[in-house]
Amino acid sequence: MAKFKLFGGTNPAGVASADSVAVIGLGRFGQSLALELMASGTEVLGIDGDEPIVQSLNGKLTHVVRGDATNEETLRQLSVPEFDRVVIAIGNDIEASILTASLLLRFGIKQIWAKAVSDAHGTILEQLGVQHVIYPEKDMGKRVAHLVRSSMQDYIEISDDFALVKTTPHAGIVGIPLSEARIRARFGVTVTAVKSVGQPWTYATPETVLRADDTILVAGQIRKAEAFSQLE
Ligand code: ATP
Repeated sequence: MAKFKLFGGTNPAGVASADSVAVIGLGRFGQSLALELMASGTEVLGIDGDEPIVQSLNGKLTHVVRGDATNEETLRQLSVPEFDRVVIAIGNDIEASILTASLLLRFGIKQIWAKAVSDAHGTILEQLGVQHVIYPEKDMGKRVAHLVRSSMQDYIEISDDFALVKTTPHAGIVGIPLSEARIRARFGVTVTAVKSVGQPWTYATPETVLRADDTILVAGQIRKAEAFSQLE
């Protein structure tokens, strides 16, 4: 007898195509991820053990299924082994997260992404062999800390020592071409893109002349990019 309840169109096996992702755990993180994938045109098989959550997502994902992701038979019946990419978005129930990860690894899924709620949880997932372990709360906390302590509009950490920063240009680099402003030599960062009010984003070139009310995207070492965005 089937150990899951299926909402949506045809059999989930049909979803396991090139541009499809299975998302296991549809809490706030899993739901947000699944809906964003759908909005970007990727087919999504969503799996969660909670009936009201599954019902609330009926019609919003390609397929949404109530089932226990720690049950191998359930995952096989849902054709999960046929997916190339699976996200485990279960956090608080660490045992369920780890059991699900070990099943997916046994299936030989190529790309497994798993959410970790603590360093210990993440370490276990990595030791199991999960390729992409993500720490949403920790990473968001770090990101907001950088936004809070400076005038940056946005901050994306690319690695431990490199970031992309969205900010406004300081007076010293406004009104002259970027080549004359010598930003890389003076500040150790690169202005990569610019957006003028009412205009779309465009690449910055040596000829670009910034205005005070422009928004710019700056790439560089974290300390330098942060310091650059704090200049008045
Ligand atoms: P979020 O922060 O994303 O809201 P959370 O960390 O508060 O999530 P979790 O305990 O991680 O909550 O659960 C996320 C979702 O995973 C829940 O909707 C839960 O029903 C689902 N879930 C937990 N264990 C299983 C399981 N074994 N099988 C299927 N779904 C599960």
